[in-house]
Amino acid sequence: MPFDPSTFADSFTGEIILPGDAAYTSAANTYGGPGAPAAVLQPRTPHEVAAALAAARSQGLQVTVRGGGHNTAGVSTNRGGVVISLRNLNAVEVLDAASGAVRIGAGAVWGDVAVVLGQHGLAISSGDTRTVGVAGLTLGGGIGWMVRKFGLALDHLTGVELVTAGGQFVRASHDQNPELFWGMRGAGANFGIITSFDFVAKPVGKVTFATISYPLDDVPGLLRAWRDAVRASTEDLTTSLTLMPAFAPGMQPAGMILACYAGPAAAAEPHLAPLRNLGTPAAVDVKEVAYADVLEEAHPPEGMVITVRNAFFKSLSDEVVDAIAAMHSLPGMRVFQLRHMSGAVQRMPHGETAYSLRDSEIMMFVGSFFPGDTAPAEVAAQMKNWEPLAALGQGSYMNFLHTATAEDVASIYPPQTLQRLSRLKQQYDPENIFSSNYNIPPSG
Ligand SMILES: Cc1cc2nc3c(=O)[nH]c(=O)nc-3n(C[C@H](O)[C@H](O)[C@H](O)COP(=O)(O)OP(=O)(O)OC[C@H]3O[C@@H](n4cnc5c(N)ncnc54)[C@H](O)[C@@H]3O)c2cc1C
Repeated sequence: MPFDPSTFADSFTGEIILPGDAAYTSAANTYGGPGAPAAVLQPRTPHEVAAALAAARSQGLQVTVRGGGHNTAGVSTNRGGVVISLRNLNAVEVLDAASGAVRIGAGAVWGDVAVVLGQHGLAISSGDTRTVGVAGLTLGGGIGWMVRKFGLALDHLTGVELVTAGGQFVRASHDQNPELFWGMRGAGANFGIITSFDFVAKPVGKVTFATISYPLDDVPGLLRAWRDAVRASTEDLTTSLTLMPAFAPGMQPAGMILACYAGPAAAAEPHLAPLRNLGTPAAVDVKEVAYADVLEEAHPPEGMVITVRNAFFKSLSDEVVDAIAAMHSLPGMRVFQLRHMSGAVQRMPHGETAYSLRDSEIMMFVGSFFPGDTAPAEVAAQMKNWEPLAALGQGSYMNFLHTATAEDVASIYPPQTLQRLSRLKQQYDPENIFSSNYNIPPSG
């Protein structure tokens, strides 16, 4: 059914992008997948967000909300419904530089946030990519380059402003609607359209970023050596280990360690030394940079299908190491990335947020690459290789999944958390208007 823009009268100043418009193709598709919505609405104010929601609901059209559009399961677009994109609500305001209080519009992306906050000597540990949205990353967690020192992006939150399914303007914080604030931090896409986020940013000057590559001739040996080094390291150091395949002829597979030390190079040096001595590195690069310059651009590879799976592991035990090495030895083009999580995330009291699986030493995702014409059955058969590893994990990280099924949702939240979220969903969105997400079923 086509979208009827006349529902808005004259009050909507944002873009209304319809099929056939020049802007339609790029507005319809996202990083995570293609879409064919009846309209993409880009409101400019919270009141216009409410008007967009009311227009979609009055026409009986599915509603999908979009922040940065980088969800890996492609849930921020749809077919035949209305996409409400927050991209025009992207202001980054420093409310009080001394305390770090900042307000960020829900359409902002992390690269822009890092630049503005950096001008005030502040930063929020978010993710590794400039174009990823503040909204989606924060609502699901946010594992960034200072996660060990400062915790998840959502651990920096002090409040959110949102428009509910019924069109009310609501604030959620520790003092106002605290149960909603609990749910926002781990399942927030389910309860309304967030228009702005209040965070406390941290004082951060220059950081030191290191890239250290090793040949991949002994995968379990490298995994164990990296594990032992990072276990002994300071929380000022956050690192990942990526097992890279040979993407192009002549390229060698590599074990690439990326490390961010939250401080200048001179102070970082003794903490980086153990990571340079895990064997004989093929390449080492260390630079002192602004935090904003650590974030990178990312583009999906042309002509390839990528499937992403992930799991949290309580511990990178020898059993887990051996299972990773076993999967790594199978034929196929895969990237394994292990992110070291120990530190501030684990210190947040259990049950404080809907994001639950905090007692994890490691989050690991595996991205599998297939030529674009690979049959879905072949992709599914290959993905079975992931199951032995997943069985050793304790659930999934919402923000690196390829699908958004009920099974995925059950892997993100422990049963009691899911029941509590279902009651909150019943209170704020009993008709499940917000269902393009890791969907919580409403229940009394
Ligand atoms: C290249 C790349 C790099 C990444 N790197 C990292 C990383 O380093 N660390 C990490 O933790 N994650 C990372 N991610 C994962 C990322 O956190 C998720 O993909 C996240 O969902 C992206 O947020 P977004 O706003 O861009 O997404 P969107 O696709 O816009 O939205 C994601 C979900 O949030 C909902 N949503 C969006 N805005 C709102 C709103 N205002 N109100 C209510 N619901 C809303 C959407 O409906 C959807 O369900 C990366 C992803 C990619 C593609």
